[in-house]
Amino acid sequence: MNEQIARGTRHDPAFANIGKGRLDQSLEKELGPKTGKALGKLGLRTVEDLLRHYPRRYGDRGRLTALAELRTGEHVTVIARVAGNDLRAMRNRSGAILTVRITDGTEELTLTFFGKHRGSLEYHERRLRPGATGMFTGTVSLYRGARQLTHPDYDTFDDLDDEFEAVQKVDWPIPIYPASSAIASWRIGKAVQTLMATIEASDVPEALPAAYRKEHRLPDVLTALRRVHEPHSPEDWRGAHKRFRHEEAFVLQTALAQRRAVSLAEATTARPPRAGGVRDAFDARLPFELTAGQQEVAAVLERELATSVPMMRLLQGEVGSGKTVVAVRGMLQVVDAGGQAALLAPTEVLAQQHYRSITDLLGPLAEAGMLGGAEHATRVVLLTGSMSAAARRKALALAASGAAGIVIGTHALLSEIVQIPDLGLVVVDEQHRFGVEQRDALRAKGRTTPHLLVMTATPIPRTVAMTSFGDLETSTLRELPAGRAGITTTIVPANKPHWVGRTWERVREEIDSGGRAYVVCPRITAGEDAGAAEDGFSDDVTAELFGLEDERAPRRPLASVEEVSALLRETPALDGVAIGQMHGQLPTEAKDAAMADFASGRTPVLVSTTVIEVGVDVPEATVMVILDADRFGLSQLHQLRGRIGRGTRPGLCLAVTAADPATPTGERLLAFAATTDGFELAETDLRLRREGDVLGASQSGRSSSLRLLRVLTDAPIIEAARSAARDLVARDPELTTEPGLAQMVAESIDEDAAAYLERT
Ligand code: ADP
Ligand code: MG
Repeated sequence: MNEQIARGTRHDPAFANIGKGRLDQSLEKELGPKTGKALGKLGLRTVEDLLRHYPRRYGDRGRLTALAELRTGEHVTVIARVAGNDLRAMRNRSGAILTVRITDGTEELTLTFFGKHRGSLEYHERRLRPGATGMFTGTVSLYRGARQLTHPDYDTFDDLDDEFEAVQKVDWPIPIYPASSAIASWRIGKAVQTLMATIEASDVPEALPAAYRKEHRLPDVLTALRRVHEPHSPEDWRGAHKRFRHEEAFVLQTALAQRRAVSLAEATTARPPRAGGVRDAFDARLPFELTAGQQEVAAVLERELATSVPMMRLLQGEVGSGKTVVAVRGMLQVVDAGGQAALLAPTEVLAQQHYRSITDLLGPLAEAGMLGGAEHATRVVLLTGSMSAAARRKALALAASGAAGIVIGTHALLSEIVQIPDLGLVVVDEQHRFGVEQRDALRAKGRTTPHLLVMTATPIPRTVAMTSFGDLETSTLRELPAGRAGITTTIVPANKPHWVGRTWERVREEIDSGGRAYVVCPRITAGEDAGAAEDGFSDDVTAELFGLEDERAPRRPLASVEEVSALLRETPALDGVAIGQMHGQLPTEAKDAAMADFASGRTPVLVSTTVIEVGVDVPEATVMVILDADRFGLSQLHQLRGRIGRGTRPGLCLAVTAADPATPTGERLLAFAATTDGFELAETDLRLRREGDVLGASQSGRSSSLRLLRVLTDAPIIEAARSAARDLVARDPELTTEPGLAQMVAESIDEDAAAYLERT
C-alpha cells in the first residue's frame, strides 16, 4: 500500500510532505482536552509523538509481577491478583477505608482507598474481589513498614468488554507504557488504540525502501506500529522492534551519508606536499621516528590533502599515541601549499599546551620574519577568550593576513571576527566536546571548504564511530610510541587510613626520584556545586556520556582542590614538598604559571580538577592520585590516567574511593584498574551502562530519534543500514524515490538543529 503511494508520487513535489498533516495533529484535538493534557505531561503532544511512544515492556496475564522488587517512591505498574479486601469505617474520624491486598503468589502489596462513607467505596470493593487479576499503578509508599499504593489506578482483566474479547485476548501480551501519575499505562494504551483505528498507511511515512524491508524481512511501518502497540504474540512486538531499529539506523545513516555527500561535493583546494618545504624541515627536526601506525596515517593524510575532494577523517588513538605530531605534519603540508591551518581545542589549557608544544616542535620553523627564523618558516598564533586586547589584535592580524600558517585556539576561533582567509585544514582536537555545527562554523571561514581532521583520544567502539561520526572515515593509532614503560593502577579504599597514608608515601618516593604527581579532585572548593563549567565547557558532558547520574555514590563531602592542597601541606610524608593548584576558574596567567611550575619541578605536586584531563603533557609526571574516583566515568578516568607514564618511567595511578566493589560503580573502577587498553574500556563502559546515552551526548539531540537502537548489540543492523543508505544516497542524493525517508531525515535534522539551539 505504502509502496504504491511512494511509487505513484515519485518526483512529484506536491506529495513531498505526504501524510504529515495527520501526524502533526494535536492529541488534545484528536482525543479531547482531558486525555490530551494528561499525555502532554509525558511530553506527548502530536499524533506522531503518541504513535512513537512504544511500550516499555509487555506484561503477561498469566505471569504476575515480582512485587519484592518494587522500591519505595517508584511509580510502578504491576500485574497481580487480589488476595483479599477489607472495607470498614474509620475509627478516629468520619469516612471509610478500603484495603485490598494484592499478591504475586509470594509477596503482597496493599492498596488503600479512602471514601466519605462505605457506599463510595463499594464500587472498588466489587471490582477488586479476591481472585481478580489486573494491572495496578501508583507510587509505592511505606505505611507502618508495609509497602502500599494509595488510590491506585487499576484495570481488572475481567472488565474486558465482552466474553469473546476476553477469550481472544487472554494470550495477548499487555503493552506497559512509560507512564506517570498523570496517566496510567492502560489509558495510554487506550488512547493509542483509538488513534490506531483511524490511521491509514498514507498517514505515516515509510522510511525503509521496499527492497531493504524485503531483504531483512521487516514489516511495513503501519503493520509494525500495530504490532508494537497491540501485539497478539511476543513475535509480533519483537518483529516490530527489529523494524524500528532498522528504521532508526537507516534514517540516521541516510542523514550522515547525505551530509558526507554534500561535503564531498564541495570544492576544496588541493594541497599537495612540496619537497624541501617546511614539512620536510619539520621531519628533519623531529627527535624521534614516527611509529609504523603514525607513518600509515601520515601517508593517508598526505594523499587526501593533495586532492580537491575534502578530506573528512576521524583520527582516534590512545592518549599519547602521537596524534598531534601527525596532525602537525598535515598542517605543514597545507602551509607548504600556501594555505593556513587551524587547530580547535576544547579548553584554554589544552589550546595553550598545543601552542607551546607545537612551537617547541617547530623551533625556528615557527619564527618567520623574526631574527633566527628558518628559511621556510611560518608563524603559529594562539587565540583564546581570555587574551589581552593587544595580544588578540596582533594574533587576529597575523591570521587575517595569512602570515600565520597555524592558528590555534579554543571556541574563540569560531567568532566572526576571526579571519583565516586561506584556511585549508581544520583540525579539531577532542571532538566529543564539540558539535558538528561548531566544526562547520570554523570550516566556513575558508575561501573554499577546508579539509577536516577530527582527533579524539576517547576510544570509540566501531559502531559508535559509525553512528556518531558516520560522515567521517576513521583512522586509528593503536600502538604507543616505543619506550613507554606502562601504567599500573591500584584501587585505594578510602576507609582504610593505612592505605591512604601509604598513598602519600608513594607520592613522596616518586618525587624524591625526580617524578611529579597529579592529585585530582572532583571539586574546586568545599561546598561548591559539583560539575561547574571549566573553560566554558560543561563537565556534564562526561556525566551524560557515562550515565553517572544514576549510580553516583550517596552525597557526601567531595574532595576539593583547596581543601586537599591545605591538607597535603600538613601531611608529614610530603614535608617540604611544594604543592601547586590548578583549576578552570584560575585566571589564564595563573594556569600557565601552575603548569610551568609543575613541568619544571618547582611544584612537583599539582592538585587539580579534571581540567588536566585532556592532552596535558608533562613527561616527568609518574604518579596520579584520583580522589573520589567513583565520581568519574570510565573514559574520564582513562583520560586522566593518560597524563602519566608519558615518559620513560613507569606510571602509577592510585584511585581512591569509598565505593563498594560489589556495586556498579565499584565494578567500573575494577575494570579501570584491570586494563589500560582504552578500546577495551570503552566496550566495557558501554556494557556497564545504558547505551542510549552515548549517542545523545556525543553530538546532539539525536537520542530523541533513537529509541530502540542499541549501538553495541545492534552493530549488524547499523552496518547494514549504513551500507544501504550510502548506496541509496549515491544513486539518489535528493531521495526523490523515497519520500517517506526524505521526510523522516528532514525531521531528524530539524530535531538536531533544535537540540543545538537549546544547547547554545
Ligand atoms: P596524543 O595527541 O595522541 O595524545 P601526542 O602527539 O601529544 O599524543 O604525543 C604524546 C607525546 O609523545 C609527545 O610528547 C610527543 O612528542 C611524543 N611522541 C609522539 N610521537 C612519538 C614517537 N613516534 N616516538 C616517540 N615519542 C613520540
Ligand atoms: Mg593530544
